[in-house]
Order: sequence, then C-alpha cells, then structure tokens
Amino acid sequence: MPAKDRVSYFYDGDVGSVYYGPNHPMKPHRLCMTHSLVLAYGLHNKMEIYRPHKAYPVELAQFHSADYIDFLHRITPDTQELFSKELLKYNMGEDCPVFDNLFEFCQIYAGGTIDAAHRLNSQLCDIAINWAGGLHHARKCAASGFCYVNDLVLGILELLKCHARVLYIDIDVHHGDGVEEAFYQTDRVMTVSFHKFGDLFFPGTGDVKDVGSNEGKYYAINVPLKDGIDDTSFTRMFKLIISKVVEFYQPGAIVLQCGADSLAGDRLGCFNLSIEGHAECVRFVKNLNLPLLVTGGGGYTKENVARCWTVETGALLDSELPNEIPDNDYINYFKPDCKLKTHPGSNMENLNSKTYLSTIKMQVFENLRNLQHAPGVQMHEVPPDWYLPDINEDELNPDERIDQHTQDKLIQRDDEFYAGDNDNDHDMDEAS
Ligand SMILES: [Zn+2]
Repeated sequence: MPAKDRVSYFYDGDVGSVYYGPNHPMKPHRLCMTHSLVLAYGLHNKMEIYRPHKAYPVELAQFHSADYIDFLHRITPDTQELFSKELLKYNMGEDCPVFDNLFEFCQIYAGGTIDAAHRLNSQLCDIAINWAGGLHHARKCAASGFCYVNDLVLGILELLKCHARVLYIDIDVHHGDGVEEAFYQTDRVMTVSFHKFGDLFFPGTGDVKDVGSNEGKYYAINVPLKDGIDDTSFTRMFKLIISKVVEFYQPGAIVLQCGADSLAGDRLGCFNLSIEGHAECVRFVKNLNLPLLVTGGGGYTKENVARCWTVETGALLDSELPNEIPDNDYINYFKPDCKLKTHPGSNMENLNSKTYLSTIKMQVFENLRNLQHAPGVQMHEVPPDWYLPDINEDELNPDERIDQHTQDKLIQRDDEFYAGDNDNDHDMDEAS
C-alpha cells in the first residue's frame, strides 16, 4: 500500500502562462504567484505535490455536452471569426474569450480537480488542494463568467462514486450557479453558496428562495448578502449554517470553493473580508474532519489572491505563517509592506444589518427543517473509471477501463520544483 498523504496539492505551472487578454480581470498568472509563495514559505515540505493529468475530452463530457467540448477543443484565436454562430451559442466572446491554449488550460484545471477527487476516493489523502480549479459558473453547454469547464461538477461526480452524499460550499463573492444548477434536482449533493445578491450583480441568481427542486428540493442553500460584509458577520453566519447543514445532511465528503474575490479590495468584489476572516471559514471546514477537496475560484486583485491561498494552504497544514513575506520571484508585487495578512477596508459600510442577517439565517434553518435527515442512497456497485492511456486521443478506446487503484498510480508526483530540497539526492551526488 502506498503511504497516505495528509494533504495532496495539485499544480501545473502551464496554467499560469495563459492570458485572457488585455483588460480582462481574470489573470491566471495569480496561480504562479500563489505557488511561488507556497514554496517560499516551505509548505511543499509538509505536503505531497502532484502535476495533474490533462483531462481527456471524454472525461470533460461526463458533465458537458460533447459538441461544446469539441468546440472548445477546436477553436483558436485565428479561426474564431469563422465561427460567430457557435461563439454566440456557447456564450463565448467578451467575458469568456478565445485565447491561445484555452483547451489545454481547461484540461489542466479540470484534471487537477478530478485527480484530487480520485486521491480522496482511494483514501490516499485526507485533503486535496487545486487552486487552479473552482470555475463554478461553467454550464453543461456553455461558458459563463470567465469559466469554460466546470471542474467542480466533474470532481463532485467523481466523489459520488464513493460517497452517498457530497456537500459543496462556495465562498466566492459570486453565486455558485453552475454547480447549483448541475445538482439542483438531486439530494445526493447539497450546495451552499454565500454570495453578493442584488443590484444586478453577476450572475443574478442565488436568492434565498431558491432551494432546489424535485428530489433536490431543500438541497440547495443560498445565503444572499449585501455589500461590505465583514469578518465577524460573515464567519458567524458561515459557522452557524455549515454546522447545521453538516448535522442534518451528514455528508461523506466536502468540496470547498475558496474564491478570493470575497476579500476586501478585490477588483470585482464588494465584500470586506480580511484574509484571516476568509481563512477562518477554511479552518472551520477542515476541522469537520471529513474528506475535503479545496479549490480556488474568483479573485481579481492578484497579490491578495496569492496571499489568501497561501495562508489557506498553511491553515490546511496546521501551519501558522510568519507575516513577513520571504523573498520569492514575485516579491515586487507584495511591496511596499511585504506582509502576508491584509486588513479590511476601514471606510466600507457593512450594509448587512443584524436584522437582515437574522432573517436570512431563519429562512435557511426553516428550509433545513423541511429536509429529510441525511437521505439514504442505494449505493450500487461503484462505476468504473475510464481507461485513459497516455496516447493519441484519436486512438482512445472508450471500452478499455481500469480500476481506481491503477488510475491513482497514473498520477505522478511532481519533483520539478524541488530538485534542491532532497538531502538524499545531495548525498548521492557527493558520493558519486
Ligand atoms: Zn467570483
């Protein structure tokens, strides 16, 4: 049996080099900055780092329509003007532009979340992190809100092979609409989204009255919030609601989307959370001691995104990090103070009154009382995984399948960044 990791972390530097275009707020470069900070704090010594596989089209089509995935696969900046009808159909253009290596970008961030779910399913780790994932707006047949492929839905589908109930929690400033929609009619996934609602804020959905339908009625929870929510109000609501949800629903695993656009000072956000407040939610979920898949999400002031996800990687490892940022490739972005922790904006008004928050909380609790305690699920035989050999995709035979254990062995540990860190290697060099 391979040794079990407490924390598995997925990263591929290639995601950080894609570019959505000038003036586009989404900067995948924030992922390189995050990783650089994680290394600078030495957190790679406390967890196992893996390069995710690139998800195959057939894996992406477990949720998305085959025609949409095929289009994503084929479209390039040079050919897009020939496909104006399709671009419209798949909602691509200004928010979701076509850029170089778009499909590979999707394959990597989705591969990371799928691999993370695999390792959790095989009990090879307790916590799996993929900061490149968390693209919660993508729909079955269309892009939306800077998201093309919904890695969260794909990861949850993997977890459902081994768990009767999966809890999805979303603390991005935007409503987790794509994930909610995918599981709106099932009781096997409970989605809980905390987000800004009103004033035509994107995507416009996520009213407290939206609770799921059919089998999924009362298995979607929305916590609509107003501008300027602070650490105290947010973490209080979060802990009260998540405790009750876990008590009622008894999930087998949790997926936590940690969008960092809920931080104060975000280019697109309007909340007033400090990194400490944001990370307090992550710590709370970790302490529930359930298999946990953690992803990134939004986050448009990139130095704060890197700070936030580094602090949260530390929190998941029970490591308190010194506030002075160590030297790293991107140190200039953290100047002049070079401090890890951020402060909330001092002159931002919290428009969430105590009465408002109390009303929302009561409505959520009322909905929870309506649901049957932890619905039983008839667990059939665990569906097999696709066999995805490292060959030309055209030669892929979908009938060949392998078991979970073999699939896990395909996930390669990534030593690329840590060549100088291994003392044994060093000794061997001297001996030879
Ligand atoms: Zn967002």
